[in-house]
Amino acid sequence: MSVFDNSEYDNHEQVLFCRDTDAGLFAIIAIHDTTLGPAAGGCRMWPYASVDDAVTDVLRLSQAMSYKNALADLPLGGGKSVIIGDSNKDKNVKLLTAFAQCVQRLGGQYYTAEDVGIGISDVEVFATTSDYIFGLAATGDPSPFTARGCFEGIRAAVKHKLGRDSLKGLTVAVQGVGNVGRCLCKNLHEAGAGLIVADVHAEALAYAVEDFGAKAVAPEEIYGQDVDIFSPCAMGGVLNDDTIPQLKATIVAGVANNQLAEARHGRLLHNRGILYAPDYVINAGGMLNASGDIFGGYDVKQVMERVLGLYETTLRVLEIARHEARPTNEVADDLAREKIAAGRG
Ligand code: NAD
Repeated sequence: MSVFDNSEYDNHEQVLFCRDTDAGLFAIIAIHDTTLGPAAGGCRMWPYASVDDAVTDVLRLSQAMSYKNALADLPLGGGKSVIIGDSNKDKNVKLLTAFAQCVQRLGGQYYTAEDVGIGISDVEVFATTSDYIFGLAATGDPSPFTARGCFEGIRAAVKHKLGRDSLKGLTVAVQGVGNVGRCLCKNLHEAGAGLIVADVHAEALAYAVEDFGAKAVAPEEIYGQDVDIFSPCAMGGVLNDDTIPQLKATIVAGVANNQLAEARHGRLLHNRGILYAPDYVINAGGMLNASGDIFGGYDVKQVMERVLGLYETTLRVLEIARHEARPTNEVADDLAREKIAAGRG
């Protein structure tokens, strides 16, 4: 299938197929839109079953980065990259360096950072070869910022849907208690919310149970829990035809990228009366922090102010959606597209 025929192709400015036979590199860089600034978005390493799957993922992720950066008021466009391979087996300095050379050749049109399968130590390897890297040790771990932004998004959703300012006494089902999910559990626990958690890693689960009094359930049981909020914090595509009918929560708000398997699942949630806080609106906290590496003059206090501002941004999206009686994901996409169009002048 050609890139242009892919259902996720959205007039992306450039899609680069990067190959280095010596290093064993197969990578794709997708630059969705650079109207508001250079494209920025992390690099994912994943053992995709096919090149088509990798193309689909990178096209969708890069579009979401354009929208995320636009709604977070960052002067950045959207891009993303994927390295096809198993990060546990195929990752090495030669491969990472070969990828960083591809980023460098783009001359600043695209900045990259960590994502699934690529950690801070890998990003530091990139930085030995490319000037266009962010999410380095200078700005620190983005997870607490991402979690805090999501927490603000949850607060906004609760205010909008339940008319409450406090999370006390509400119960949240958190799917995935890794780097971000764990920080989010801490925020929720401190706000007086009860927690039900699921993870495929027993160690991560034990931490949430011991430190935050969470109840652990099997991964497949998390969707049907009798809770107020379902918070996807593991992987994408979890809101689909199978899972949406299982939900008892009236709010879905989490950090995972691309939670809706397809855009139409936003409408399915809407039709079922479930309020969906769009993923890229509420998971921008890490980006707000890490982008300090691109602009310089990093100030953690200023970053936190902007992260807390995600409460108002989320509320605005939800209010417009209610006023227009439309799914929240469609409204967020429209707002982001309007901002980008305004940037074109
Ligand atoms: P992570 O890898 O640290 O944590 C993910 C957790 O999900 C792991 O503990 C993993 O065991 C668990 N998991 C995997 N499959 C599962 C399943 N089927 N059921 C339950 N748990 C499962 O990743 P992270 O950095 O915490 O990021 C979580 C999500 O948020 C990802 O989708 C990521 O793309 C997105 N995100 C992260 C950031 C950030 O700052 N790290 C920013 C924006 C978006």
